[in-house]
Order: sequence, then C-alpha cells, then structure tokens
Amino acid sequence: MEKKKDIVMSGIRPTGFLHLGNYFGALRNYVRMQDAYTCYFMVADLHALTTLRETRELKQHVRRVLAENIACGLDPDKVALYCQSHVPETAELYLFLNMLAYKGELEKTPTFKDKVRLQPENVNAGLLTYPVLQAADILLHRATLVPVGKDQEQHLEIARNYVNRFNQRYSEVFPEPYAFNFGEDLIKVPSLDGAGKMSKSENQMATLYLADDDESIRKKISKAKTDSGALAPGAPMPETIANLFLLLKLVRPQDVLDKFQADYQAGTIRYGDMKKELAEGMVAFITPIREKAEHIRNDEAYLRQVMEQGAAKARASAAVTLQLAKDAIGLNYF
Ligand code: ADP
Repeated sequence: MEKKKDIVMSGIRPTGFLHLGNYFGALRNYVRMQDAYTCYFMVADLHALTTLRETRELKQHVRRVLAENIACGLDPDKVALYCQSHVPETAELYLFLNMLAYKGELEKTPTFKDKVRLQPENVNAGLLTYPVLQAADILLHRATLVPVGKDQEQHLEIARNYVNRFNQRYSEVFPEPYAFNFGEDLIKVPSLDGAGKMSKSENQMATLYLADDDESIRKKISKAKTDSGALAPGAPMPETIANLFLLLKLVRPQDVLDKFQADYQAGTIRYGDMKKELAEGMVAFITPIREKAEHIRNDEAYLRQVMEQGAAKARASAAVTLQLAKDAIGLNYF
C-alpha cells in the first residue's frame, strides 16, 4: 500500500504586492514541497480583513497573489490553490477553536502587539483572534507541515496548544502542526533600511517586490543602508552589513559571497561594488517572475478556473475534518 503523504498548509494575505520575504520565507518552499506532499495553499483574504478597512483593492490583490504564486512555480493541478473565503468550513472550525483560545495568551502574541502599535484606532477582535483563524486554516486539513517565515513561529505554537486542548477535552482529532523549512532555521528576510523585515505595507523603499521593475530594484539597493562608520578591529559585523550579505547569499553563488567576505575581513570591501552585484543578482532573479506573473494576471478565465478547482479540493478535505470535529465535540444528537 502506498504510504499516506504528509499534509502541508500555508497562506499569504492579499494586502499588497508580494516581496522577497514572502518568496524566501514561504513560496520557495511551497514549490519545493508540491511533489512530495499533499499541499493546500491559500490566499488569506479573511486574514486581510483584520487590517484592511478599505476593500476596493482586494480583488486586484487576490488575483495578483494567485498569479504570483503560479509564476513562482506552483502548479495548481498538483496542489489545492484556493481563496480562504471560498471555504466557509474555515469559519465554523474557527468558532470551535475560539472556545479553546484564552484572551491572555492572545494578547501576549508579538504580532498582535505590533498591530496594536500600528493601528491603535482599529484594535478589533479579529486582530486579537488572528492566530485562532490561522490555526483553523491549518487544522482544517489536519496538516502537520507549515512552510512559513520566522515571524510565524509563535502562531504555530499557539496552534499546537489548541490541538492539545481539543484532543484532551473532546477526543483525538488533530495532529500537531510545525513550522517547516527543510530542517533549517526559519527565514527572516531583512528590509533594506536595516529596520525589521521586508513586508507588504511598511516602508516600500526598503522592500523588494516581485513586481518591481529593474530600475526600481537598482535604485532601492543603491539606497540600502551601509553607513556604520569606522569599526574597531574584531568588532562584530553591523546588522545593516550582515543583512546585505544575507540578501546576496539568496541570489548569488557562494564564490561571490566568499570574495566579499574576504574583502570585508581585510577591510578593503567596497559597498558600492557589493550593492551592484546584489542589484544585478536581484534583477536576474525577479525579472522572469515579474514577467510570468503579468502574463498570468491578464488571463482572468484561467485564474477563475484555478480558484474554483482549488476551492473544490479544499472543501472536500475540510468537510471530512469538520465532521470528525463535530463528532468529537458531541454535536451529533441522533
Ligand atoms: P506580510 O508580512 O508581507 O504581510 P504575510 O503575513 O501575508 O506577509 O505572510 C505570508 C508568508 O510570508 C508567511 O509565511 C510569512 O512568514 C512570510 N514572510 C513575510 N515576510 C517575511 C520576511 N520578511 N521574511 C521571511 N518570511 C516572510
């Protein structure tokens, strides 16, 4: 008998343009996993509503995220690629999990604290329960592997808490999900200004988007922070410089990296040259994805078909899980 494949689940919010962080933290692994596992990947439009008050651009964002997923190499025939709101079972499981979610635990979540800082005028309950909805997305398919970036580690821990509470309170339905990066540390792609991570909405000059044209890529990298002044011998590498090395490693071969490392050690490094190397590496990496995504985005009939096919696959899996969950809770009266 064929061994049952492990189940993979992950998603990206349609709140703006996808960037290098989304690619190296998430999408790259989606593509690497699609042949070996049963995969569910979604456009997390319900999650987007926790921060979007203006939804006029949602349609364009959803189509863009779908197109960019495919342009990065995801094959909608191999995986379930769907839109979160097309799977209403998500909301039902979210409700069950809310009974296992404690306010104190949610309030302590670093992503919640960040959002409170960013949008103090809109601290809604959806924002607080973001990790509950995320757990519902994952548990809906009883997934165990979740390819995500480092910023999501805490949410996975919360999801495991709900699994254990559910299984103990009712009966064993869910396996524990874990963040996955092929056994390596989870990735955080830093922003170009040395402050935090690349992200869809914060500081667009410091983030490289998969839709950026060649000139924007070159310009953003040329403005990346390197000025750290003179360093004492043996001082640790400043974060801005370490970030440049990290980015270079993503798109250029090891020998190029070694050369700049050696120059850095010798104190002869020229950051202008390093940035040029990085810019050309990024242009070569992003251009084919941008062009392919543009082409896919223009084919509305294809995108609609992908979405429908993905929703059907996701709903089939969700229906089985939901029945198991309801039986376990005791919501079956005859
Ligand atoms: P964003 O923070 O850009 O809005 P999402 O919250 O939609 O992104 O996250 C989608 C995926 O991209 C998640 O798996 C997240 O961990 C990953 N991700 C987002 N930003 C980065 C980053 N700078 N480095 C690594 N992974 C990231």
